[in-house]
Amino acid sequence: MIEPMKYDSFGHTYNKKVFNRFGVPQRHSGIDLNLGRGTDDLNDPIWSPLDGKVIFSARAGSWGHMIVIRHDLPTPFEYRGKTYSVVWSRQAHMQKRIAMLDDLVKEGQQIGTCGGTGRFNRSYSPHDHFDIILQHLGKWTSYTSWWSAAKTEQYYADPLKFIWLYNQFLEDLKKKDDKDILRREQELDALWAKFKRTGLVKKDIRRQKLMSFGDFAEIYFRMNPQK
Ligand SMILES: [Zn+2]
Repeated sequence: MIEPMKYDSFGHTYNKKVFNRFGVPQRHSGIDLNLGRGTDDLNDPIWSPLDGKVIFSARAGSWGHMIVIRHDLPTPFEYRGKTYSVVWSRQAHMQKRIAMLDDLVKEGQQIGTCGGTGRFNRSYSPHDHFDIILQHLGKWTSYTSWWSAAKTEQYYADPLKFIWLYNQFLEDLKKKDDKDILRREQELDALWAKFKRTGLVKKDIRRQKLMSFGDFAEIYFRMNPQK
């Protein structure tokens, strides 16, 4: 999982107390990634943080040009005591949207450019408002239905922290896989040694040709396809 834009500073951070345009205090649901200082051509790319499917791509009032992507996590991920198999990423205030509804996007694929559309505090320069929306049971399929109905189910993660933790989780999974491969190799070595001792390794009785390790491994994996 990647951070969705090159930035040099943060605007509002996660959970910061902010005031909406009616002066009502709220918690900032995500993080504002500021464009590099001096960059104002509004062409800086915004990427998809992970493989996913675009479930919303439109101009949305004070959010400006906004894209929401559904990411199905190949392995469920535990975060703050709950397990998630689906998360959404939401990015707002884009200058231009490139990814459109129902597009399948890859991690790192450009989905738009950073901008200043929508109504946000005038003192802020163009930035990418970036949210990670947690979908505990993954039951919401449409962004608009979730937004209008799910006032009690609006769980957000600290986006950059989530990315870091998720990548750690993937690293750990890989290490576990490596361990499994090692264990499987050791198991195969041990079987091969035993098999050789039994004298049953002659592949071709007439020519007294020994079965190779490759032949043995092939038979072994055919007999144990689950390993
Ligand atoms: Zn924001």
